[in-house]
Amino acid sequence: LPAAPHDASGERVPIRDLAGLAPAARPARRWTPGRVVATPAALDHPHGQRIVERVQAQGIEVEHLRSNRLTGVRGQTDRETYARAKATMAIVVSPPSRRDLQPIAPSADWRVDLAEGCPAHCQYCYLAGSLSGPPVTRVYADLDDILAGLAAYAGRGTVTSRNARRADEGTTFEASCYTDPLALEHLTGSWRRAVQHFADWDAPVQLRWTTKYADVGTFVGLPHAGRTRVRFSVNCAPVSERFEGGTARVPDRLAALRRLALDGYPVGLTIAPIIALPDWRERYGELLDQVRAAVDGVPALDLTAELITHRFTPGSKEVLLGWYPRTRLEMDEESRTRKHGKFGAIKYVYPRDTMAELREWFTAELAARVPACRILYWT
Ligand code: SF4
Repeated sequence: LPAAPHDASGERVPIRDLAGLAPAARPARRWTPGRVVATPAALDHPHGQRIVERVQAQGIEVEHLRSNRLTGVRGQTDRETYARAKATMAIVVSPPSRRDLQPIAPSADWRVDLAEGCPAHCQYCYLAGSLSGPPVTRVYADLDDILAGLAAYAGRGTVTSRNARRADEGTTFEASCYTDPLALEHLTGSWRRAVQHFADWDAPVQLRWTTKYADVGTFVGLPHAGRTRVRFSVNCAPVSERFEGGTARVPDRLAALRRLALDGYPVGLTIAPIIALPDWRERYGELLDQVRAAVDGVPALDLTAELITHRFTPGSKEVLLGWYPRTRLEMDEESRTRKHGKFGAIKYVYPRDTMAELREWFTAELAARVPACRILYWT
């Protein structure tokens, strides 16, 4: 299925009604980019060629650029530029700086990028303010080199080695910081190759990613050696339905989590962003009950949770209001606490009392409703 169409505000417009189909029979939502381009440098890499073939096999034309610079994305207005960029996938070589991996606490020891950009339209998107320029999705053709370069980081833990609860994970690599893997896998095949790379690796390592999609068919049955933890980013219905345009429905994400867990993958929940709606206890309670049902009866379940409250920065707010001018997402500095993040950057988080209430509730309710679930961190 194509991504959900959006009205001028960026809010979700209902697409084909899939209600009534059993999760197993429901086709996975898949992104069809409006334009796919490839740079000359990307075509020098075997994986660049593989992506081109994969895209063409899906009936999508690939435009070969004359230079390695991406052009033709800017429109007459910011809205037009946004729409064009979000519909574009570029097959490129990763910037050299990306090979020098950065620590990415508290999620993992190291961040590894296989792509940058995402076709979904979340009105709180984490990428807003983090990436510069129009939000084109760039997928990396030099995958083989990226994966080969990870060997230098094995054994160099920054997070998991210091955390007794995570010591069994080995050195962890987060592969979804700047993208959503399952939104792109059908077009790239990159994360499937990464799963196999980690499975074959002769060292204690873990690949991790989080997703708001549910297209896991090509991962089921893959020899993964338990070395990849797939987390599903989930939220309560009012947040997901109102703010997460173009993603898979939460029940479909949870059905996908179950499929992977039954196939022996370690799995996880990324509950993010936790939003303090007026009726948040009731709404998040419904979500946890859905999770409980999704993991019911899974043998040897290995399930974790990462709990991340909503926050914004002056930069992300400005970008998001440009992308979604009519959003109803609360980003009111007056009702938040101002904090200094890394390198002195300002961010606005919930006040201390709200944070404490949320944290206490999630800790208690996860233990009560999904006792097998281990909380990795709260932020
Ligand atoms: Fe942004 Fe993640 Fe939503 Fe994609 S799925 S738009 S990266 S928040």
